[in-house]
Amino acid sequence: MNYATIKPVDIANGEGVRVSLFVSGCTHHCKGCFNQVAWDFDYGQPFTSEVERDIINLCDRHYIRGLSLLGGEPLDPNNIETLFALCRNFKQIFPDKTIWCYTGYKWEDVNHLEIMNYIDILVDGQFVQELRDLRLRFRGSSNQRIIDVQMSRGKETPILWR
Ligand code: SF4
Repeated sequence: MNYATIKPVDIANGEGVRVSLFVSGCTHHCKGCFNQVAWDFDYGQPFTSEVERDIINLCDRHYIRGLSLLGGEPLDPNNIETLFALCRNFKQIFPDKTIWCYTGYKWEDVNHLEIMNYIDILVDGQFVQELRDLRLRFRGSSNQRIIDVQMSRGKETPILWR
């Protein structure tokens, strides 16, 4: 897996102050995508064990509420194995911090994935330009849902956060 950017302090992509990882590669190709350069799976740099260690160290600050995964597409089959390992390690070290994941897939299509054991909040669905609303918190278009993953597991209809 390649990644484009790590934001060591981010307040725009999830609750509280967070560390955000933007991975490379996305096949959704939404019209009006905010990050088209990251459609390319080869964009950016390789995600190595050193990079993972850097992220864990960045998260090990008392004011960091958790880790956010964005893209690109974190749940793409090309990226998910690496992120599964990152999420598992993160939760072992920081059981009280949260993981937010932004995906272009819908909850109904990804809720069975093993990585959901570690994700607290899933912001789901493709970006739809016609539904773009700047007043929305933590999402770009009104079709996207902010889902409480642990509350929603095993349920047909997802439980929305707050
Ligand atoms: S899912 Fe996200 S990264 Fe992928 S095309 Fe849509 S807006 Fe862009």
